[in-house]
Amino acid sequence: MASPSHLDWPFFEDRHRILAVELRQWASQHLKHDDERDLAASCRKLVRQLGDGGWLRYAVGGKSYGGLNEAIDTRSLCLMREGLAQHSGLADFAFAMQGLGSGAVSLFGDEAQKRDYLPRVARGEAVAAFALSETDAGSDAAALQCAARLGGDAYILNGEKTWISNGGVADFYVVFARTGEAPGSKGISVFIVDAGTAGFEIGERNEVMAPHPLARLTFKDCRVPAAQRIGAPGQGFKIAMATLDVFRTSVAAEATGFARCALQHALARATSRKMFNQVLSDFQLTQAKLAEMATGIDAAALLTYRAAWLRDTGHSVTTEAAMAKMTATETAQQVIDDAVQIFGALGVMKGEPVEQLYREIRPLRIYEGATEIQKLVIARGIIKAFQAAEDPGAPG
Ligand SMILES: Cc1cc2nc3c(=O)[nH]c(=O)nc-3n(C[C@H](O)[C@H](O)[C@H](O)COP(=O)(O)OP(=O)(O)OC[C@H]3O[C@@H](n4cnc5c(N)ncnc54)[C@H](O)[C@@H]3O)c2cc1C
Repeated sequence: MASPSHLDWPFFEDRHRILAVELRQWASQHLKHDDERDLAASCRKLVRQLGDGGWLRYAVGGKSYGGLNEAIDTRSLCLMREGLAQHSGLADFAFAMQGLGSGAVSLFGDEAQKRDYLPRVARGEAVAAFALSETDAGSDAAALQCAARLGGDAYILNGEKTWISNGGVADFYVVFARTGEAPGSKGISVFIVDAGTAGFEIGERNEVMAPHPLARLTFKDCRVPAAQRIGAPGQGFKIAMATLDVFRTSVAAEATGFARCALQHALARATSRKMFNQVLSDFQLTQAKLAEMATGIDAAALLTYRAAWLRDTGHSVTTEAAMAKMTATETAQQVIDDAVQIFGALGVMKGEPVEQLYREIRPLRIYEGATEIQKLVIARGIIKAFQAAEDPGAPG
């Protein structure tokens, strides 16, 4: 009997298994080589393709607004990202940003905002972006300085955002700005800013090692109607963290997809590369490497789908999502590095799949909360749980 695939794990329902199989078929037919010369055009095309294929319906919540489910189903989101990452990093990026960019609207938007934006996102007609980070506010997002001042029936935005995925490509940006109801994290609100709004401009492109469109955004007396604020004034930081709670787990799935892809390439190479009258996989040092890669991937996938399943079944997953993101991204980095090593010089040749994966994986340990931040989140979670337990039990 064939050994069970991860899709047989009890975290999944049949609808998830069908999704994974259908996505694999669609992706191998539709996702060709990405054009790195015109990233904006490639991204737009991918968003269209994903919309036409019906896949973006997994990225938004609410059946009345184009979503496949009433709430975003985290397991579906993760299977989508794991599957797309195995075919194309840019396709995964295009899918993920539709979800992350519109996530605050799905989770906290009012009826008019949901009706206006989500169906277009789900059809691939509007490209979304999530604008939180600033030059001096990355890990410490609550230090952000971009300001929004209420004047009549509009907010006036002034400031900058940087490293914004889909910067210059998106049709709308979910922008976090300081409204000053209280100091720090309690004085931030969030707004939907349409591309082309007067006073909103795209600054220089941020070139990154894996080809994804990123840019700096500037706001100069940019007038945004008060009706474009998502949620209550001062709730922006909470909204950002709740959105990241969903999408952080999906970054773990993305990393797992990249790692699976690297392992497949490594297996193909190790079992065919002749040396010393054998093939590379005949050597125990190589076998040890392959064993560690495969075990690491399963451990990452187990943590990822545990977090996704817990969220889908109504649990708070801040700690579990952080565990998944930290483990999956760090593991994938090691797995891909091992794959490059197995390929030898070929592994560092530009355009080789493992070389592309090597560039693709690195930023995942930084964005949506760097590994060090995930460790702080996990430690905070377990200490709080220990202190809250009625009888934590004596050690030993
Ligand atoms: C490819 C890519 C895409 C991105 N897309 C977006 C986007 O769409 N929207 C958006 O808003 N942002 C985006 N970002 C920005 C990203 O969220 C930030 O880069 C991230 O939050 C880290 O911030 P930073 O780069 O300023 O690093 P810093 O905050 O300066 O961190 C530097 C290092 O310090 C470590 N560190 C931080 N705090 C501690 C601590 N307490 N103890 C020990 N070490 C610590 C960090 O872990 C990290 O290793 C993107 C970044 C990249 C690379």
